[in-house]
Amino acid sequence: MSTSETAKPLEGKLLFPFIAPPNGGKGTQTQILSQRYQMPTFDMGATFRAIMKEGKDPQMKAELESFMSNGKLVPIETVVKVFKKNFEELALQNPHAKGFILDGFPRNKEQANALSQLCREWGAELSKVIYLNVSMEVVKSRAIGRRFCSQNARHVYNIHDPRLAPKQAKQEADGSGVASDAQGREIWICNIDGADLIIRPDDEPQTVEKRLAEYSRETDPLIAYFREQGQLTEINGEQAPDQVTQQIESDIQPLLTLSPTP
Ligand SMILES: [Zn+2]
Repeated sequence: MSTSETAKPLEGKLLFPFIAPPNGGKGTQTQILSQRYQMPTFDMGATFRAIMKEGKDPQMKAELESFMSNGKLVPIETVVKVFKKNFEELALQNPHAKGFILDGFPRNKEQANALSQLCREWGAELSKVIYLNVSMEVVKSRAIGRRFCSQNARHVYNIHDPRLAPKQAKQEADGSGVASDAQGREIWICNIDGADLIIRPDDEPQTVEKRLAEYSRETDPLIAYFREQGQLTEINGEQAPDQVTQQIESDIQPLLTLSPTP
């Protein structure tokens, strides 16, 4: 067993993996906490996109493509390799950070085991796993109610937004009709530029259902695993965002203050 001290750039660092269902508010929370505590976020989804679309690592891209073009799942060894290489890179770029947020890794129990192993190698600590518990009903309604402006994707709405007005159907002479899409759903218009709001394919009910089923299948055992290990911090993610932040902070703040600065 190697105990070479020079090879441990992550000695004493705290890792905080975040687990939440899609639309569970993870992006909002990790962004706030990352800024407030100068904890860089490692985003596994963004890492894969950088490799596949932005040409970050052509060799790795070829390796990933060799699995995907055959319709195979990327094996765990490869996923872990991508994580290790890119996370170490982030850690080296941020030598003064006490902690790091992990978004999108680990995604299942096998990846959690691999992460525990890596932490032992690195001398890093997997202290708290933050789980934002949001019921499937709530995340479903968040996704299904979301609308994007057809002119500017940064204009994002929820149909419960009181500022929104439905689009009037042009064919109605008295102007009382409401325009609807092919599925009979009301069309709304952007409050800023008046453009039609659209539903992203990702937010279509069938797609949402499928994605959530997949999430549960992988994540339920992951949550159970971290709970058994005593590492899980469960937060009610249906509260107002600032309450969620406060609760996470009350858990991680003591760790960040007490951990020794290398
Ligand atoms: Zn707009």
